[in-house]
Amino acid sequence: MISESEGSEHGDRVCGKNSPENPGKSIPNHPTTRSSDSHESINDSVTQCRIGMGIDFHRLGKGRPLILAGVKIEHELGLIGHSDADVLTHALCDALLGAAGMGDIGTHFPDTDELYCGIESLKLLERVLALLAAAGYRVVNVDATLIAQAPRLTPHFPAMRTRLTEALHLSPDRIGLKATTSEGMGAIGRCEGIGAICVCLIERD
Ligand code: MG
Repeated sequence: MISESEGSEHGDRVCGKNSPENPGKSIPNHPTTRSSDSHESINDSVTQCRIGMGIDFHRLGKGRPLILAGVKIEHELGLIGHSDADVLTHALCDALLGAAGMGDIGTHFPDTDELYCGIESLKLLERVLALLAAAGYRVVNVDATLIAQAPRLTPHFPAMRTRLTEALHLSPDRIGLKATTSEGMGAIGRCEGIGAICVCLIERD
């Protein structure tokens, strides 16, 4: 383990990307420390691509439909929430909003607002995409992982990918879908809920 006092003072443990040949960040006491003008130049050329991530969890309960990526999946339990509780789509919305620096899904669509009671989450995604488009962003790709002990989700991936392809206006190869269990551990392992993690890349010209 390296303490904060070790190694960093002279930049010798700084990532190679910060070398003089690739001065992405200033290094303390280093002659390549950049001016504010140079920083603006870097921002102009580099920050047109942005990465975002989103995480969400919902509890499972009786009497609710199980909807993931807009696909209704036959199961004895469904996800509980103010909207349709589509946990994957919520994580995706948060990833996209986060990439654009636009807050999160709860900020834009609060669960205290009756307007969003029971709403299809793909409609929320549509609104998120409109926000990004208004700011000049388009989606490059998304990659999502569902965490569920049951039901088995991979058989539903083709339908889920189709819905996301339509919603995101992306080719199927730009949509990553994966599923894992928690190996029986914790609340998800006891089938009390489902989680989703999503990362995305957005860009603007
Ligand atoms: Mg949610």
